[in-house]
Amino acid sequence: MGHRSRHPQGNRASRLNENGSNGETHANATRLVEAGRRKQWRSVPGQPGSVVNPPVWRASTHLYESTEDLAKGRPNEDGHFYYGRRGGPTQWALADALTELEEGAEGTELFPSGVAAIAATLLALLKPGDELLVCDNAYEPTRSIAAGLLAGYGITHRSFDPLDIEGFAAMIGPSTRVVMLESPGSLTMEVSDIPALAAIAREKGVVSVIDNTWAGPLGFAALAHGCDVTLMSLTKHVGGHSDLMMGAVSARAPQLAQIRRHAQMLGQVVSPDDAALALRGLRTLGLRLERTSATAAEVARWLTTRPEVSAVLCPQLGGAPGNDLWQRDFTGGCGLFSFVLAAGADKSARARLLDRLELFGIGFSWGGYESLAIPVDPAGLHSLRPWPPGIDEGSGLGVRLAIGLEDAGDLIRDLERGFAAMGES
Ligand SMILES: *Cc1c(COP(=O)(O)O)cnc(C)c1O
Repeated sequence: MGHRSRHPQGNRASRLNENGSNGETHANATRLVEAGRRKQWRSVPGQPGSVVNPPVWRASTHLYESTEDLAKGRPNEDGHFYYGRRGGPTQWALADALTELEEGAEGTELFPSGVAAIAATLLALLKPGDELLVCDNAYEPTRSIAAGLLAGYGITHRSFDPLDIEGFAAMIGPSTRVVMLESPGSLTMEVSDIPALAAIAREKGVVSVIDNTWAGPLGFAALAHGCDVTLMSLTKHVGGHSDLMMGAVSARAPQLAQIRRHAQMLGQVVSPDDAALALRGLRTLGLRLERTSATAAEVARWLTTRPEVSAVLCPQLGGAPGNDLWQRDFTGGCGLFSFVLAAGADKSARARLLDRLELFGIGFSWGGYESLAIPVDPAGLHSLRPWPPGIDEGSGLGVRLAIGLEDAGDLIRDLERGFAAMGES
């Protein structure tokens, strides 16, 4: 269940990394340690030696050498002092690290939340009269951005079934400009054939954007699989400790320039303190994901044996819906999955289950070191088709678990107590 390492060719990592690397491409475990640690961001000019981490550079004003220097301006890319709104070395180090982890990315733009990253990306890539296609299992705020924010600017949208490849191809019209993908889908966890969907989009001149928060670059190489833009909430796995909010967008060159321009017009900037926390989280990302993914598979496997459960929606579980595509395309999973309660359960039984849990907190977000559980109602989530297939045989009531770093046996015993509470009234 661990992360299979990969050695993508042609990544910018070795070019950007000035740690004395000999230009060799490293496996992800090594990249997570090396990424973003350019020596010039960890040392003082004229002073031999350096520190391990890029320090927190708190700065609004950046100083120029002279009026002549000021008049010269600065290139609009990371790594050049200009003004605090364009970030400083701490934020550049994080963006640089994320770019190094994303094969095919020209660069990375940081945002104060994952939702800010989604909104700015779509605003940057669409204009009045354009159409956006949104997968029917998208994160709910993504649908709200399409139906609310974008509609107000004269940008239309339609939902498509991400499991119907031909239907998707047929939907692309003359004004379709962008497709928003997400796999596994939020809450219902369908894995879609991203390489096929992205290839169709590219062939028809449509820009493909993927919300890759679930897998991140270690679990799914989105650009290498054909997407143009990949974004994720760093609030989840990269932060990893439930103490910061941030989002990131990594993209190919033409889209990156558009997104950067818009982010700057929208005044988007992240604090250097949060960037340093995200960098710290990044160093242990691989280890944490390996552990939460393995524990999630163990808990998921146990859930399949429970009479209270009619379906387990966990992509990395053998035999689960979407596991074939997950095996084909992904190099890792995470701790987030859902399950459906068997027929006979009602909302108050589900509430008793969740309220009895001691190790699982009840709350949104995920990707932290601690486990969480929330009720979800998958039947009502999709506009185009019920999911999961056969859901009518169950209660239609779901639970989403975010597995943290606790012991699998302890989590299973906690859920066992919860199931016992379902029978009480
Ligand atoms: C949480 C989440 C986001 C939004 O991230 P925030 O940092 O909370 O704004 C986006 N996409 C997915 C799939 C998420 O789960």
